[in-house]
Amino acid sequence: MRRWSAAASAVWRRRGRRQATGSIRRPDGSRIVTIDVDRLERRHGEPVHLVTRPVLLAALAGALPGPVLRLATPVADVPALVEAYDLVVGADGIGSVVRAALYGDRYPLRYAGTVAWRGVADIEVPVGGETWGRGRKFGLTPEGSGRTNWYAAVALPAGHPPPVDDRAELRRLFDDWHQPIPRLLDALTPDGILRHEVHDLTPLPCYVSSRVALLGDAAHAMTPDLGQGACQALIDAVALAGCLRDTTDVPGALRAYDRLRRRSTQRIAAAARWAARLSQARRLLPVRNAALRLALAAGPPA
Ligand SMILES: Cc1cc2nc3c(=O)[nH]c(=O)nc-3n(C[C@H](O)[C@H](O)[C@H](O)COP(=O)(O)OP(=O)(O)OC[C@H]3O[C@@H](n4cnc5c(N)ncnc54)[C@H](O)[C@@H]3O)c2cc1C
Repeated sequence: MRRWSAAASAVWRRRGRRQATGSIRRPDGSRIVTIDVDRLERRHGEPVHLVTRPVLLAALAGALPGPVLRLATPVADVPALVEAYDLVVGADGIGSVVRAALYGDRYPLRYAGTVAWRGVADIEVPVGGETWGRGRKFGLTPEGSGRTNWYAAVALPAGHPPPVDDRAELRRLFDDWHQPIPRLLDALTPDGILRHEVHDLTPLPCYVSSRVALLGDAAHAMTPDLGQGACQALIDAVALAGCLRDTTDVPGALRAYDRLRRRSTQRIAAAARWAARLSQARRLLPVRNAALRLALAAGPPA
C-alpha cells in the first residue's frame, strides 16, 4: 500500500498541476481572504495537485487489469445484479438507481438554492481563486497550457426558468467584475458552457445493505462549494477496497466501510451546504465575509 501510494504521488505530481496560492476577492478585486493552499502540505507532506477529470479517468482506467470496463451499459435491474454477484457497488452518481433500489424516494435530493455554470475556456489566467458578490460567485482554476477551468454560482429560486443564452446571462451577471473575469467571459464559446441546478442528498442512515454498498454521490451528493464531491468519492473507493481486502465476509466488510466513511462524509456535506448558504448571502456582506475568513482560518472539516 505504501509503495503504491509513493508511485501514485509521483504520477499525480507529473500529470497534475500544483495548486497556486489563491484568494477570495470582492467583485472590485479587493481581497477578502488569502487561501492557505500550503496547509495540506504542512499536514501531510504533499501539496495539492489539480488534475482534470479526463486525465484522472484515463489513469484509473489504464490501471485496470484487462478489459473489465464496460461502457454504455446502464444498470436498470439492481435486484438481478445482487442475485448474480457477491458484491454490488453503487457508484452511479447523484441519480443513483442502486440507492433507489435500497431506499426508494425516502431520502430525496434537495435543491440547494444555486444554479451553477462551469466549463473550460481557452485563455490563461495568472492565478486562481474565487470572487464573492451579492448572492453570486465566480471561480477560476488555471489548468496551464492556455486553458482555465471556470465556474459561476448564482442564488436562484427552484424552478427559475433557464436563460435563453447562457453566455449573455453570464455577461449580464459578471461583466462589471474585476479582471480577468470579463476577459474570460469574452473567450467563452456557447457549446462549452454547462449549467446545473445544484442539489445535495438528504443524509442516508446507512451506506450499505448486506452485499450492496453506495459510494460517492450515490451515497452523499453534496454541493460543490468545498470542491470535495469527487475527492470524497475517491476516498470512499480506497476505504471500501481496504475493508474488502483479506476477507470473505462481505457484509462485515461493508459494515466496516459504513462506519469508516458515513459520519465524515456527511459532516463534509453539511459544511458544503453551509458554505453554499454563505455564498448566497445578499445582505450583511461584511458579516458574511468575516464569517468566511473565520471558516478558512479554522480549516477544513475533519
Ligand atoms: C457544478 C459542480 C461543480 C463541482 N466541482 C467539484 C470540485 O471542484 N471538486 C470535486 O471534488 N467535486 C466537484 N463536483 C462534484 C463531483 O462532480 C461529484 O461529486 C463526482 O463526480 C461524484 O463522483 P461519482 O463517481 O460518485 O459520480 P459521477 O461522477 O456522477 O459518476 C457516476 C457514473 O455512473 C454512471 N451511471 C449513472 N447511472 C448509471 C446506471 N444506471 N448504470 C450504469 N452506470 C450509471 C454515470 O454515467 C457516471 O459515469 C462538482 C459538481 C458540480 C455539479
